[in-house]
This record gives sequence, structure tokens and C-alpha cells, in this order.
Amino acid sequence: MSKNGKDMFAVHLPQIGQMQEGTCATCGQHTDFVFIGTQQYPSRVAEKLKVALIVQQWRCTQCHTTLSVSNAEQVA
Ligand SMILES: [Zn+2]
Repeated sequence: MSKNGKDMFAVHLPQIGQMQEGTCATCGQHTDFVFIGTQQYPSRVAEKLKVALIVQQWRCTQCHTTLSVSNAEQVA
């Protein structure tokens, strides 16, 4: 952990309920996604699965599929 601890939380995250446009891989619609929160993995799990520590979860407003996006990617 860093000295002041702030760096751990420097990741910019959307607000819950925030909308973002994108194309849904499930229903194929160009639509809005609603940010519903984050899922956080313990570091040993993240290493094993090779996933980001924090995964953003967005819901398609057309088909209500939940889309998981790691911090390395963006909904585009
Ligand atoms: Zn969809």
C-alpha cells in the first residue's frame, strides 16, 4: 500500500445510474447502458483469472443484459 493510501482509489469510476451510449453485443442495438456498479475481485483471484481488480457493470436498456467491463476497456 502506498504511503497515503490515495493511489489505491485513484481509478475514475462512473456514478451509479450514469448512462453511456454503446452497441450491445447481445442484442446488437445501438443503445444506452446504465452503470449499475462494480464488482471487485481479491488480488489473488484477479491474478489467477487475469482480470482487472475492478470490473464495471453496465446494463443494456434494450435487453437488460449485464455487461462487465474491466478498467482496461471502455464501452464504445
Ligand atoms: Zn442489449
